[in-house]
Parts: sequence; structure tokens; C-alpha cells
Amino acid sequence: SFLSKNALAAPRSDSQLSMAMERTYIMVKPDGVQRGIVGNIISRFEQKGYVMVAMKTRMATPELLDEHYCDLVEKPFFPKLREYLLSGPVVSMCWEGKEAVSTGRKMLGATNPLESAPGTIRGDFCIEVGRNICHGSDSVENANKELALWFEESELLDWESHSHDWLYE
Ligand code: ADP
Repeated sequence: SFLSKNALAAPRSDSQLSMAMERTYIMVKPDGVQRGIVGNIISRFEQKGYVMVAMKTRMATPELLDEHYCDLVEKPFFPKLREYLLSGPVVSMCWEGKEAVSTGRKMLGATNPLESAPGTIRGDFCIEVGRNICHGSDSVENANKELALWFEESELLDWESHSHDWLYE
């Protein structure tokens, strides 16, 4: 029936799987949650046509952050970055679609919000690098690492949007 076909996480066909789909890890940081920008960020990814594979709100932990930012732990700003990310709930999301990793980064904007173009999330909503409201994976390899870190495998759903054929040729 219509209901069972659409309500369940249907496996995708071979042709859909072969189309270089990517999954990226997007996280709204505590300032984005506190300032009520979560919905706007979700809307942008939805409007673009990407599919929400997973989402949850949670507190980060020092262990998660040391792993997530393993390339930055030696940086002088890391203690402040960790304190910032532990200061309140974060929203973890996985979005899927064609070139979702690099396009997700473009949608977020440059790391320093004063250099982020207007129209990007950081360009529209924030000012300082230490309060830049969101994270997005910078490579497919890191996306896979981050998704495995922040989600259980069973939380990442396999489903097809009914708009699929209106978004992709
Ligand atoms: P991005 O989040 O754009 O991938 P980085 O991986 O370089 O950027 O840095 C991770 C996060 O660390 C940034 O989003 C920002 O919150 C914080 N950060 C980076 N550089 C600085 C800095 N110079 N001072 C304070 N915080 C910083």
C-alpha cells in the first residue's frame, strides 16, 4: 500500500545507489541551538533537496570532541572550543544527496563568519569564529568518520524522498 511503501525505510534501487550520493555530518553548535537557528538550518538543507538521514539533539562529551577535532587538539584555541561545544546541547544531523559534503560546506560559509558570504548560514547569522553556530564535514572521508562517531549505524536511515525524480535527472 501507499502507507507501507512510504512509511518504512525502503531500500533504494541499484540505479539510485550508483549515483555518487554522499552523506555529510552537519552539527548545530550550542549557540545555534540557544539562538533558535536550528529550524532555519534544517530548512536550507531541505529546500536544497537533500534528504535527512538522521537527526538528534544531545550533549557533546570531552571524549567525542577530542576525537571529532583530533586535528585541532594541539591548537591554542582548542580549550575554548571545547568549552564552547560543551556549553549546551548540540543538534547532530546527517544529510544525503549529490555532492552533499562540498555543497554542505558552501552552504555553511567560511569558518570565519566575517568572511562568509551573505546568503550562507554563517554569513547570515553570526560574527565570530568562536561562535560560528555550525559544523560541516570537510571531506567524504571525514564525513564517514564523524557520522560513525556521532551516530549508531542503526540511526542512519536508508530511505528515498518522493521528490527524488524531480531533483535528479
Ligand atoms: P571548520 O569548522 O570551518 O571546519 P576548522 O576545522 O578549522 O573550521 O575549526 C573548527 C572550529 O574551531 C571552527 O568552526 C571554530 O568554531 C573553531 N575555530 C577555528 N579557528 C579558530 C580560532 N582561530 N579561534 C577560535 N576558534 C576557532
